[in-house]
Amino acid sequence: MRHILEVKNVTKKYGDFTAVDNVNFTVDDGGFFSILGGSGCGKTTLLRMISGFEQQTEGEIIIRGESMTGIPPELRPVNIVFQNLALFPMMNVEKNVAFGLQRQKLAKDKVHQRVADMLDRVGLQGFEKKNVTDLSGGQRQRVAIARSLVLKPSILLLDEPLGALDRKLREHMKVELKLLQKEIGTTFIYITHDQSEALVMSDNIAVMNKGKFEQIDTPRNLYKYPKTSFVAGFVGESNEFNIRHYTDNILTTENGWRLSKPTLDIQPKKLFIRPEAFILNPSEDLEDIERVDIKVKTILFDGSNTKISAIIKQSNDEVLISLPQNAQFENLQEGDEIEAGIHHDDLKCYP
Ligand code: ATP
Repeated sequence: MRHILEVKNVTKKYGDFTAVDNVNFTVDDGGFFSILGGSGCGKTTLLRMISGFEQQTEGEIIIRGESMTGIPPELRPVNIVFQNLALFPMMNVEKNVAFGLQRQKLAKDKVHQRVADMLDRVGLQGFEKKNVTDLSGGQRQRVAIARSLVLKPSILLLDEPLGALDRKLREHMKVELKLLQKEIGTTFIYITHDQSEALVMSDNIAVMNKGKFEQIDTPRNLYKYPKTSFVAGFVGESNEFNIRHYTDNILTTENGWRLSKPTLDIQPKKLFIRPEAFILNPSEDLEDIERVDIKVKTILFDGSNTKISAIIKQSNDEVLISLPQNAQFENLQEGDEIEAGIHHDDLKCYP
């Protein structure tokens, strides 16, 4: 079966307040699907409805072709990994992972075998007798995932499981989680407010805002072709401008930067330009680009990346520009005046 999960017209109301507003999506079997959105947008509520801890006010949730309406959490083929992991601190790794199987009254030797297999798959062989409090954050993470996966759920729901880790470990764990998911093949539904986690790990991402899905797409498409101004502003870095008017194919920003933008069939209110869309010193023969004079204000070098903040001379708008790894710009200095170009396709406009 291609779709392991179908969420159809699902709404959740608390009194007059709509926390999840008519959400529709499907998740492919074996996929890594993320729900990305800011605090309070309804992510956790949606996850709790899939797991059965919360009932939807309207709509239907279908897992493996079966409606989950009226089915309690313990009988749904899903499991959750929480942000705080909720491991049993007084137990060792093996006992933590075995807990759910023992509750199912599985024979002792079967429990032992399945726990051993699972620990092997998450790279924790040799850690069986260690107390979970003696493990690193990343190892505890893997115990929590093993404890859920050993019950063979059709879908693993992950509620910001990297949120409590420090930045460096988070960077490492997001790659590890993706590899683990691909190897194990269980469908993951991952909720996060961190766009870089969602972009790195997911096959598909739903961007959620005020209870609604704004766009469901691959990470690459979300970044390159955001369908709404919310997505353009939320996913990746962007320079954002309010548009004062658009007439005769000319956009005028609030501060008076005039740019040509051929044939828009909407009345644009917002303009977004990615930092990497600016081309410094564009060659004379480049076509379909908007040219603009800028002045370098600050050079921001962080080791692997160079960005500059620059002033658009025409309007005094400040923009962030990401420079390609290219020796040509190594001598760029604060205060330099230079021409920049932007392809018309990279001027993203929204109503
Ligand atoms: P966060 O990332 O901060 O956890 P979230 O996207 O997971 O946010 P939810 O926890 O799903 O957001 O909450 C969505 C909205 O629903 C919030 O405005 C919240 O206050 C409201 N809400 C959640 N649970 C209840 C409840 N039991 N009663 C009333 N309102 C609730």
